[in-house]
Amino acid sequence: MKALVAVKRVVDANVKVRVKADHSDVDLTNVKMALNPFCEIAVEEAVRLKEKGVVSEIIVVSVGPKEAQEQLRSAMALGADRAILVEADATANLGALEVAKILKGLVDQEQPQIILLGKQAIDDDSNQVGQMLGALLGIGQGTFASEVSVANGQVQVTREIDGGLQTVALTLPAIITTDLRLNEPRYAALPNIMKARKKPLDTKSPSDYGINTASKLKQIKVEPPAERKAGVQVKSVDELIAKLKTEAKVI
Ligand code: AMP
Repeated sequence: MKALVAVKRVVDANVKVRVKADHSDVDLTNVKMALNPFCEIAVEEAVRLKEKGVVSEIIVVSVGPKEAQEQLRSAMALGADRAILVEADATANLGALEVAKILKGLVDQEQPQIILLGKQAIDDDSNQVGQMLGALLGIGQGTFASEVSVANGQVQVTREIDGGLQTVALTLPAIITTDLRLNEPRYAALPNIMKARKKPLDTKSPSDYGINTASKLKQIKVEPPAERKAGVQVKSVDELIAKLKTEAKVI
């Protein structure tokens, strides 16, 4: 069976983001970009399913600027077989719904049985695309997955929820969104990075899927988080307790 994995190009998690002087957006000039960490976990899970013989082909897809080819190549270096980039203008500011509609077009075209996404993209933290895709396709979804097993036309997904763990059984095709503890992605070996350069990467446009990329969302203003005030060092536990009582008034 085919697995389709949706990956997003985002600012590298180790970069301290800056806001543009006019507060219109985050400044991406000369900023290191990377595969969204949750998407990397999704690719790793697809590769493990292929290694177990459950999945026969992994297609990795992204909606974004031309440069997102780099992240698709990284996903292929981890083990995806081929890639599709739906090239969208970098300034289009696509909303989750527009991305989900394009992904629906890709699912209709490729007919995968397993569709893997990250639980959220670390740039906008929206946590919406997987759920919207589930609604658009009318299929089941196991979100925040910490364990996945496929057997007899079904996938069992253990979900990390507030109260603990919940296990759901979904009929295939199904959507899985990955949480942090699902797996630890491997590092791409150099020979695999070289091989990934030769794997097929197809480029499409949103209009190929009948999607208008004009987002219904308008970004009004971007503000950096408030600076943290400097802390104080105490000399003893007694002084700490006194401060907690008299100044912070928490005990
Ligand atoms: P979000 O709902 O934006 O937090 O993203 C959740 C997941 O949806 C991501 O981890 C990706 O798997 C997928 N996704 C979001 N945006 C894109 C995009 N532009 N291209 C491909 N996949 C995306």
